[in-house]
Amino acid sequence: MKERIQWQAFLTTESEPEVQCLLDDLGLRDKQQFPISQNKRYIVRNGVPVLFQIILEPFLWKKYDSSKVSDDGTDESVGGFFQRHFGKEVVDYLIDPIVAGTSAGDPDSLSMSHSFPELWNIEKRFGSILAGLVLSKFSTKKESGGVRNGTTEKRKPRRGSFSFQNGMQTLTDTLSKELGEDALKLRSEVLSLSYNAGKYASQNWSLIYSKDKNSKDLIADAVIMTAPVCSVREMKFMKGGIPFPLNFLPEVAYMPLSVMITTFRKESVKRPLEGFGVLVPSLEQQNGLRTLGTLFSSMMFPNRASNDEYLYTTFIGGSRNRELAKSSTDELKQIVTTDLRQLLGVEGEPTFVNHFYWSKAFPLYGRNYDSVVKAIETMEKNLPGFFYAGNHRDGLSVGKSIASGCKAADLVISYLESSTDQSCAE
Ligand SMILES: Cc1cc2nc3c(=O)[nH]c(=O)nc-3n(C[C@H](O)[C@H](O)[C@H](O)COP(=O)(O)OP(=O)(O)OC[C@H]3O[C@@H](n4cnc5c(N)ncnc54)[C@H](O)[C@@H]3O)c2cc1C
Repeated sequence: MKERIQWQAFLTTESEPEVQCLLDDLGLRDKQQFPISQNKRYIVRNGVPVLFQIILEPFLWKKYDSSKVSDDGTDESVGGFFQRHFGKEVVDYLIDPIVAGTSAGDPDSLSMSHSFPELWNIEKRFGSILAGLVLSKFSTKKESGGVRNGTTEKRKPRRGSFSFQNGMQTLTDTLSKELGEDALKLRSEVLSLSYNAGKYASQNWSLIYSKDKNSKDLIADAVIMTAPVCSVREMKFMKGGIPFPLNFLPEVAYMPLSVMITTFRKESVKRPLEGFGVLVPSLEQQNGLRTLGTLFSSMMFPNRASNDEYLYTTFIGGSRNRELAKSSTDELKQIVTTDLRQLLGVEGEPTFVNHFYWSKAFPLYGRNYDSVVKAIETMEKNLPGFFYAGNHRDGLSVGKSIASGCKAADLVISYLESSTDQSCAE
């Protein structure tokens, strides 16, 4: 970890069982916070926020010809996939704002198979995504029968997003306390990794990292890499004493994003909306809106601001407007205030502003993304005991990252066990 473990995410869900286990193991249930009125989500249409359900309604009753399942060989875009199933308006007013708000991407650049693998596979299996969703729910229930890891599941996960008292940072703070500063090497940068095959799988890896400008080393049994691929490309790898060049790892495109936190006095917000937040489709730029969307943070979690203020979290940039993401805090403050004036009727200036700029906020799961996944697999195949679990594979959300970390931990255990079995058999 280069810096102190720091969390940029705002909310996550319990849809991955690994997230539920982590919360239980860390004793974080008491600190979990579910947003008030989280089903009230808005999308801008003709310059004004409209409830998501109202936008969705007409599409549920329309019939589209979704009988043509995409050919296996083609890497269809997210936009193409949803247009085929639900028409262009759904792409413009639902899919576009949702992907901009969750991955800073746009429907035409994103690959369907990498961005929404579950839906992509459901279409392949059932031909129709709506029927497939219903049928796959039935079959999952039958298959799992409510049993996981040999134990009967007691807790039914609560649906929807959640955060914690004091925000998502609570999760990483608790985790780092649980593991202890000695086990974690915080504010450290991994510079090189070297694999030397020994008789057993254990202790075959040695790492060099820098901490406080000092170079240190570490011996390890296995490596679970969660750094972004762009950082992995900068690390030096050795195998059996000779360099293991990473020139096969492709460059990944990243989405830049600015996050603006603003507060306004309650009396200055003439049309406050209760709920989760508002997303802005690309098409609404023609109505003068320049932000991607805004979370109503203090509406969801009232203790995030003083009683007489509203706190908003607004996203700017992404693939829709890369240059805008790099703007100064003052420029962004004006952009956010102008958009919130139109959407919520804010008057005057914000009473507080905080700005975070992420030059590489999200990897773009573009339409040639298969090459990235294949290169990661090549690394894993050629470097025994090396496993990748960052968000450059298997999904962008916190939940997906936790699940892929758990999967990698299982693979490490099998790797070490299989080597022990082999040595016992000799
Ligand atoms: C602004 C923003 C808002 C988001 N909101 C949400 C949300 O609300 N809900 C949600 O589910 N997801 C959200 N996400 C996505 C989610 O935060 C990420 O997908 C998730 O954190 C990815 O986890 P990761 O461990 O793969 O990578 P990261 O969290 O990016 O961690 C990678 C780590 O590797 C470290 N590193 C890099 N190079 C080295 C090196 N050489 N040595 C040591 N360490 C190194 C970095 O410092 C970093 O700490 C958001 C993302 C952004 C940018």
